[in-house]
Amino acid sequence: MPDVHALLSASSSKQWLHCPPSVRLQEGFPNESSVYAAEGTFAHEICEYKIRKYLHERVRRPQSEEFDTEEIENITDVYYEFVVGVIEQMKQNGCEPLVLVEERVDYSHIAPSGFGTADMLIVGKDEKGRGLLHIIDFKAGQGVFVDADHNSQMMLYALGGLHAYGYIYPIETVRMTIVQPRLDNLSTFECTRQELEAWGEEIKPIAKMAYEGKGEQKPGEWCRFCRAKPVCKACAEEALSLCREDFLDLDGGAFEEGTRARASPDEENDLTAPYNADTDTPVFKQPGLIPLTELSTILPTLNRISSWIEAVFAFVSSEAINHGVPIPGYKVVEGRSKRVFTDTKAVVDTAVANGYTDLYKQQLISLTEFEKLMGKKRFNELLGSYVAKPPGKLTLVPEDDPREPVDLSNTPDQEFAVLPGEE
Ligand code: SF4
Repeated sequence: MPDVHALLSASSSKQWLHCPPSVRLQEGFPNESSVYAAEGTFAHEICEYKIRKYLHERVRRPQSEEFDTEEIENITDVYYEFVVGVIEQMKQNGCEPLVLVEERVDYSHIAPSGFGTADMLIVGKDEKGRGLLHIIDFKAGQGVFVDADHNSQMMLYALGGLHAYGYIYPIETVRMTIVQPRLDNLSTFECTRQELEAWGEEIKPIAKMAYEGKGEQKPGEWCRFCRAKPVCKACAEEALSLCREDFLDLDGGAFEEGTRARASPDEENDLTAPYNADTDTPVFKQPGLIPLTELSTILPTLNRISSWIEAVFAFVSSEAINHGVPIPGYKVVEGRSKRVFTDTKAVVDTAVANGYTDLYKQQLISLTEFEKLMGKKRFNELLGSYVAKPPGKLTLVPEDDPREPVDLSNTPDQEFAVLPGEE
């Protein structure tokens, strides 16, 4: 998978479409790749390998001791099965589709110097026999649900695909799918060729502004991956003003000027009136407790503020730890660490020489290793009835998350009811 990125990359398009100057503002900040990014890159390589193998190309499976796990195998299988399903369906629709894996697409006719790499670009026919361009993108992450609906990354890839193949093939419909197996997300958005091209024309002036570093800084959820975030004034101003003004009037209420001054010994008031804990209902001055309904309205804001705070801490820590920059009022110290063996062989030899023998644990191989050992078919025949997928951990997500809500009408007693045969 190529790791070259355009200045106006498709993957960061949500950011530069909302905040055009961010592209140039973040230029001086390194693009530090995380462990998650490295794992995602490996997962993409496995996806590519599986599809190329299906297409009978000579390929070698990518290797990674760290990331080649059962989970990666499973999530890339989901992607593989979806892509193969699309190709086979097109064949049934009466065409031999053009199938391009990890295809570099050029959308510089829309965004200056814009290019990107589409995981899958397939050109063929849809169920009604119309010319179809299908772009498919794999997402390995599980942090943020990615919706295909009007997704600018996918639409830019599609514009690049149209630019390259729209003259050769009679494409009428454009379909864009995101496969995000860790969130059970299979999201597809479809539009006509004309609709896509009209959107391209619409964003051209914004793309030009972004390329030239013009326009206004506008904070929002797109700040998430902006490298300028820790030092962005607009972001800091927004976060701090939201804390101060928008959601809680922390200056008012119980400590309002004069509240205590009015409590003179001769005059009965809230502070001096007799109080019977058995019969009186306490009346709280503001601020009291925040009702759940009010808390729920500030959750999206809190998410953004907490992500900004994290980014500021990460940036300042990295400056101090990695570049030795002194931070007034702070110092760098060593964290807690765990004891480790420095020479495993010497440990075993010494223990055995002194009569200790039970030094190793035996472990059952994993479900994926069983599948590899037996093959999927045999595995299902022999062990399929012993496989279950337990429900995932309950999580609170925004209402527009497309996953089905969990029916919580079962009481915890029912949830944890004793299974038959366990009594
Ligand atoms: S952090 Fe947000 S507001 Fe600031 S430059 Fe980046 S995208 Fe724009």
